[in-house]
Amino acid sequence: MATLLRCLLALIVCVCPLGAAAAQGVAGAPTFGWRPRLSRQGSLVLLGVRPSVADSVTRIEGELAGEPLHFEVVGDEFRALGAVPLEAQDSVAARVVIERAGGASDTVIAPLRVRRRRAPRERLHAAPEFVQPPESLSERIRTERELVEEIRRRAHDTPRLWREPFMRPRSSAVTGTFGVVRIFNGVVRSRHLGVDFAGKLGAPVLAANRGVVAYVGDLYFSGTTVFIDHGAGLVTGYLHLSSTLVTPGDTVARGQLIGRVGASGRVTGPHLHWLADYGKLTIDPLDLVNLDFTAPPPLTSSPGLGAKAQAEPQPDN
Ligand SMILES: [Zn+2]
Repeated sequence: MATLLRCLLALIVCVCPLGAAAAQGVAGAPTFGWRPRLSRQGSLVLLGVRPSVADSVTRIEGELAGEPLHFEVVGDEFRALGAVPLEAQDSVAARVVIERAGGASDTVIAPLRVRRRRAPRERLHAAPEFVQPPESLSERIRTERELVEEIRRRAHDTPRLWREPFMRPRSSAVTGTFGVVRIFNGVVRSRHLGVDFAGKLGAPVLAANRGVVAYVGDLYFSGTTVFIDHGAGLVTGYLHLSSTLVTPGDTVARGQLIGRVGASGRVTGPHLHWLADYGKLTIDPLDLVNLDFTAPPPLTSSPGLGAKAQAEPQPDN
């Protein structure tokens, strides 16, 4: 009964074309879809929309979970990447506005259902000054946080700089997964907002894809760090390095050697911490490697179909 009610509610709000086309009943509704159909907290989503009259589209824009979307034309549809916040509960809202020649527009509003991410706990020991930094460092830490926020914000202004699939920055084993709850020295809890790769001191670290180097420097918690702006909202970060081989403004190629594994910042030993952000939202960086950007999202113009997919959890891909 609860499921039926949810379906009915989803029917009302799921894919809800507004505006001139729907009001006048002239051109049918745009179709909209996303993949994976059931996203985990802190994950990447591929969205697709097919306008009712493709050749008359003058502008398409949208947002997911408050972050802007960057649509690109693929055949007769538009696609964009978006992100689901790690803190998202139950669902996140996507909103897309399609403007057509002559001034008509369609608005698609759809809730994307979200499933919880497992958050196993891990107890770690780090130097006390990294677990509870002295008051004298609070200004430095605040400034560094703002600097990173600015890099992530600016990525929305950079055009997409990559065409090939993302790759892992190291081919070694993953020793720390995304989203784990870490308890440092028995007191401080934090979510692990990246993926750790094994590596000896000096082992190579490669750019996960083409982009522009947005930052090279030393951050208190992250140690020696490189950020790459891949454009269209995407940034990857490479933390705790022992040395770097790039400078800000460099355009790096996919797979280019950008630095070497180290143990700088808040660490328990040498490894690479790899992170990925879509604007303000931090996602599991392995989604960049695992999500097939070329497979089209399943589009539907039928709110009923959308509701059905919401009610029946699909396996993650
Ligand atoms: Zn890590």
